Amino acid sequence: MATLGEMSAGVAHELNQPLSVIGTGSDYLRKCVERKRSIDPEALLQVARELNEQVERARRIIAHLREFGRKHEVSAQSISLNDPITGVLGLLGQQLAVHDIQVRTELDPGLPLVLGDVNRLEQVFINLVMNARDAIEQRREEAGGPEGLIEIKSFTQGGQVVVTVSDNGTGIAPADQDRIFQPFFTSKEVGKGTGLGLSISYGIVRDFGGSIAVESQPGQGATFRLSFPALREAAA
Ligand code: ADP
Repeated sequence: MATLGEMSAGVAHELNQPLSVIGTGSDYLRKCVERKRSIDPEALLQVARELNEQVERARRIIAHLREFGRKHEVSAQSISLNDPITGVLGLLGQQLAVHDIQVRTELDPGLPLVLGDVNRLEQVFINLVMNARDAIEQRREEAGGPEGLIEIKSFTQGGQVVVTVSDNGTGIAPADQDRIFQPFFTSKEVGKGTGLGLSISYGIVRDFGGSIAVESQPGQGATFRLSFPALREAAA
């Protein structure tokens, strides 16, 4: 996890971009009015839209940051990890199909319960699945690539409940494999990634006593592996 200094530098950098676009846009409008220059309605609409988009972007960054602050109000119940997985696939399945990405699941129906919160764990799986989609699309753009595939498995291993989320996207260079969990590390173009998804996911998983790790063959895909201590009762 980042130090406060790194965090603030990252936040400052992220927020500066939308703010400078908003500054330029509003400056342009002010000058037009001061010089009594008429503005083409199309151009005015475009500036207004751009301002709005940038405000939205700043709002998204702030909403993400709030998640960091929420860490200490953790409430946990006994849950089956299959529940947030099926919830997320219900939510995103259609979108993935439209993007021509096949999803395969192998979920152990007798999975032992773990301590967690379905909503917060859904956030984790949304992040992982969206990242997998992005990696698959990027590989497709760069190299054509094979058919997109995301595989999600849940099983028990040595007293731990394990979930793996694998994709056949771009994969991750060895040098980046540790850095991807740091706040604001992103390889995505400006405006697309905030670099906060994995660091927030890391925090959520850790709040429930779990751990998250990545394995990847660059160019072949990546597997994220989450493991949580199993509670004694098995799912009904
Ligand atoms: P963001 O998606 O906004 O960039 P994340 O923290 O979710 O932020 O991810 C950080 C970075 O980790 C991504 O920009 C990408 O470089 C890398 N990454 C995450 N998941 C994958 C994946 N499944 N395949 C390849 N790279 C990934």
